[in-house]
Amino acid sequence: MSAEARRAVFIDRDGTISEEVGYVNHVTRYRVFPFAAEAVRLLREAGWLAVLVTNQAGVARGYFKEELVGEVHALLAAELERGGARLDAVYYCPHHPSAGEPPYRQDCDCRKPRPGLIRRAAADLGLDLAGCWMVGDRYGDVELARNAGVRSALVLTGYGRGELEHQSHAWPHRPDLVAENLLEAAEKIIQSGE
Ligand SMILES: [Mg+2]
Ligand SMILES: [Zn+2]
Repeated sequence: MSAEARRAVFIDRDGTISEEVGYVNHVTRYRVFPFAAEAVRLLREAGWLAVLVTNQAGVARGYFKEELVGEVHALLAAELERGGARLDAVYYCPHHPSAGEPPYRQDCDCRKPRPGLIRRAAADLGLDLAGCWMVGDRYGDVELARNAGVRSALVLTGYGRGELEHQSHAWPHRPDLVAENLLEAAEKIIQSGE
């Protein structure tokens, strides 16, 4: 990769950088993993941008208002800052193809595993997607990576361990790497880029 190419690690939210607790319909339900800040800090020190990409269809479903997504991300930013880290950007999809009312009810291009969030980030941040990674806890994140043309890391936090044990026999595609959690994924990604 050329020195000029900007590369990013896209990070799923629920189950990857924070606990999978079902719909985060109140900030008091939100729990950032204790290793999250170190993972993000290491990635950024190694020259990667750290970009959150998350589906928040609870907005379309009417479980919570879109403003709550911003409140949760402010909490995440504060937790990361306590650990000396920050995200470079946050992208989320509030849509659902069949639930709720327009404009949130729509067959959008950004609901993962569709690649709209990553494409938007690539345009905004000037990324070379071939050098980027997607880290997530669900097979859908592996599919997203494939659809966006980036490499994939599956973490075993959140739904990851169960999906790997019980469903991976039927997966059409394999993740490029499997890691215990976001910190181990970050370390392996950094190694792969050296
Ligand atoms: Mg997840
Ligand atoms: Zn969307």
